[in-house]
Amino acid sequence: MSKTIVGVAASSGVAIGKAFLLANPHLQIETVSVEDPSSEIKRLKDALEQAKEDLREISERAEREMGPDKAAIFQAHLLVLEDPELVETVKGKIAAEKVNAESALHETAQTFIELFEQMDNEYMKERAADIRDVTKRVLCHLLGVEFAAPSDLAEEVILVAEDLTPSDTAQLDRRYVKGFVTDIGGRTSHSAIMARSLEIPAVVGTTDVTREAAAGATIILDGHEGLVIIDPTPEEIEAYRKKQAEYERQKSELAKLVHTATTSQDGVHVELAANIGSVQDLAGALENGAEGVGLFRTEFLYMGRDDFPSEDEQFQAYKQVLEQMGEKPVVIRTLDIGGDKHLAYMNLPQEMNPFLGFRAIRLCLEQQDLFRTQLRALLRASAYGNLKIMFPMIATLEEFRQAKAVLAEEKQALLDKGIAVSDRLEVGIMIEIPAAALIADQFAKEVDFFSIGTNDLIQYTMAADRMNERVSYLYQPYHPAVLRLIHRVIQAAHAEGKWVGMCGEMAGDPVAIPILLGMGLDEFSMSAGSILPARYQISRLSKETAAGYTDTILSMSTSQEVEAFVRKTFAGNGM
Ligand code: PEP
Ligand code: MG
Repeated sequence: MSKTIVGVAASSGVAIGKAFLLANPHLQIETVSVEDPSSEIKRLKDALEQAKEDLREISERAEREMGPDKAAIFQAHLLVLEDPELVETVKGKIAAEKVNAESALHETAQTFIELFEQMDNEYMKERAADIRDVTKRVLCHLLGVEFAAPSDLAEEVILVAEDLTPSDTAQLDRRYVKGFVTDIGGRTSHSAIMARSLEIPAVVGTTDVTREAAAGATIILDGHEGLVIIDPTPEEIEAYRKKQAEYERQKSELAKLVHTATTSQDGVHVELAANIGSVQDLAGALENGAEGVGLFRTEFLYMGRDDFPSEDEQFQAYKQVLEQMGEKPVVIRTLDIGGDKHLAYMNLPQEMNPFLGFRAIRLCLEQQDLFRTQLRALLRASAYGNLKIMFPMIATLEEFRQAKAVLAEEKQALLDKGIAVSDRLEVGIMIEIPAAALIADQFAKEVDFFSIGTNDLIQYTMAADRMNERVSYLYQPYHPAVLRLIHRVIQAAHAEGKWVGMCGEMAGDPVAIPILLGMGLDEFSMSAGSILPARYQISRLSKETAAGYTDTILSMSTSQEVEAFVRKTFAGNGM
């Protein structure tokens, strides 16, 4: 019987091969008193030199195979070895405590690693992994232990390891290593970043793959879904071979589109942006050719912790996103907590209907300290890129005016203190509530843009809870009522010369795309993986032709009718 393990999808693609268990060299480090510290210091220096020699070689190899960006990681490792703070501390420890070099190095490195790991910052945590990697290399030289070298491979394998260090990853021979899977790591681990640039499928963070997979066992690795199947059945292998072939074919087609603008067959440009929930999500968005960020769900910055993120923490996150996006637009949504998104530390009372309750802008306007902190962080960050601020769950004009007034107050206070704020900052709203959609013409006079949040707009229009399986049949994106609301919003925005986007899931739906393009939607924001398929689809569609069907579609009476019509009319147009 096969066994399926779930991990984090770190690098796309499907790989099938035999498991190669990359054992971590077991380093036995004992503390030994020495008579002559100077000879230990000499041993340390020699080991450091040998490690540097290795790193120079790997760095050259990385540069040849993967380009200067990745070689830079090993240059950074070289710097760790040359860092006087580390090296001198080790030497000082050997001299003062009269201990052997490996023990002094191990203990000192451990202190540095713990220090970095405690920092509340993913980037610094990854740096701890770098120090661990470099130290292991030097310790191996001191102890005369060989690294298990994945470069010795002579057959196609899937590497299975507790973790892969950047140097393990750089030594991977792509002819033989078809994929890798690890117990630990996330999407921003260096090994994951490198797997993506090497285009080796990878799943990380499985917790226990090293325990589950025996050496030589057949493994299927699905880098899209983050799945690993150990000892698959012949049927599973067959199914995944097909998936693999299809994926490779599509990928090479779609990859041609990463750096192209999104243009319909008749030459109309629309913007394809990404939805992100963290700074870390940005890498995937850019790799997939996002032309902007259409929705940054900031509530994820507030989750998985014990207290609110400070103004400065938020400022750093927003600034990083804006800087990485350069001139590209970045829409950041203010806190949308409530509904299905809880913050345990807020202690809010339970509600009968949380989706209709105290959430998002309603909560922010009442708990203004919270709101103002976020607005200050956003305003300060605005100086670093092309920011657009968006308020969620707006139902009334009063809410928007009030939120905008709070924003203006905070902006003025910052300017009074001489703090820079962008003067081209746009302020818009999400259209997620039918009431707002119905008076979009009024809103359009006062906002800079709309972004249609169909995830909520559909549930409120249909009175069908988006979380409730029993009524999911009523959750109909193509219901004419939903489509009429969307059309109305787009018309209202354009009548006032404002742009309108969509950041609900519907924006990346291949059935919805021809309808939305025809209605004149300006920006489609979706999860990163949907961007290239959508770009391809739009390149095969004529906006003018699609627009010619808008009235017909809007006059239909059921969702099924709309879907059948779209599928038939646009079959073959990249759908
Ligand atoms: C939406 O409602 O469509 C939306 C994008 O917001 P969320 O899914 O975060 O509620
Ligand atoms: Mg919503």
